[in-house]
Amino acid sequence: MKKNEDIALLCNDYTMNTYSRTATIVRAKGCRVWDQKKKQYLDFTSGISVHNAGHCHPKIVDAIKTQAETLSHCSNLFYTPQNGLLAQKLSQLSLGGKVFFCNSGAEANEAMIKMARLYGHESGRYEIICMKSSFHGRTMGTISATGQSKVQKGFDPLLVGFRFADFNDLESVKALVNDKTIAVMLEAVQGEGGINPATPEFMKGVRSLCDEKGLLMLCDEIQCGLGRTGKMFGYEHYDVKPDAITLGKSLGGGIPMGALVASSKYSDVFTPGSHGTTCGGNPLACASSLAFLEVLEEEKLVEHSEKFGELFRVGLQKFVEEYDQVLQVRGLGLMIGLVVAGSAKEVVDELRAGGLLALTAGEHVVRLLPPLNIGDNDLEEGLEMIGDTLEVLFGGEEEEETEDKE
Ligand SMILES: *Cc1c(COP(=O)(O)O)cnc(C)c1O
Repeated sequence: MKKNEDIALLCNDYTMNTYSRTATIVRAKGCRVWDQKKKQYLDFTSGISVHNAGHCHPKIVDAIKTQAETLSHCSNLFYTPQNGLLAQKLSQLSLGGKVFFCNSGAEANEAMIKMARLYGHESGRYEIICMKSSFHGRTMGTISATGQSKVQKGFDPLLVGFRFADFNDLESVKALVNDKTIAVMLEAVQGEGGINPATPEFMKGVRSLCDEKGLLMLCDEIQCGLGRTGKMFGYEHYDVKPDAITLGKSLGGGIPMGALVASSKYSDVFTPGSHGTTCGGNPLACASSLAFLEVLEEEKLVEHSEKFGELFRVGLQKFVEEYDQVLQVRGLGLMIGLVVAGSAKEVVDELRAGGLLALTAGEHVVRLLPPLNIGDNDLEEGLEMIGDTLEVLFGGEEEEETEDKE
């Protein structure tokens, strides 16, 4: 075993350079994580909205242990109880219809894109209208569907058949519909794109447009789904039902997992051989996911997310009033963006130095995704840490201004 201090060096020497990593994390519990020198951090990233029930939730840990000892994997050539039970649960919670399991969010979106194409194949329709500043993953298909050039740069030629509309501008979507269009794909709340919630008019307008033109409405719920926004799914804020949704991130309770859920009309588009995966939906991932969904229900985490999201945003709003450089608080439930005039990364770095983990979403948005079961004291502590950091970064200048005036 390497010395603790060498962990970062070890990772840098032997893992590809796809992330600029910062702290080293060796242990976690609830909304806290610890580094190798026992420094504690308040984790307002939840591992990018993966641990929605907090780190190492005992019920999820137990389910993983038990399932690992019983049957962790046997391939999709066989039936397993956990697989069927989880599919039933997700179907009942969302669209009715059926589920395809896979191992990540990007794979879930791949499945959704393939399903839409297969459905449109006979009529020669394959184009999918996606949104600018969306994010759908890192595979060739999903970077082609992502409306941000930064994820596409250097990987062209991209997959054909994706067009990009302006998010929250229904006319721009309508303008792209033609006789090759099969679907519209969007996030109810854009995540990496900057925590941008859809407007009700837009979501309802997309639904009507899809009905009118015979298009599938595809919602990527990978980040905004499963309680994050104060509803079970992001689309529920808008009183619409999509034709298919994708899930990932928190779905597996910490075990990598993705899922496509399609309403009954599209449930049987795939047939044996038309799509597949070796590990997707194995009993281990399904057992962990079932335990997570039980915790979500038992501990009323969706309601909790709504309530604490509101408290958090009210607390953050004070900083907008206090500092010129803090421009806006936006988001739904505990999916929150703090928009700053300067570099969001600088704020995130300073927060981490002070003991709070946060994320960026684009250049100017500090993204805050605490576990949905965060308590009053932890939220209060987090707000204080954010306040202290903003004071360090932005407080000084105001004093200088006052001095200038004197
Ligand atoms: C994270 C994310 C993805 C990709 O999920 P991976 O598991 O990283 O492949 C896709 N869409 C949205 C909205 C996401 O937030």
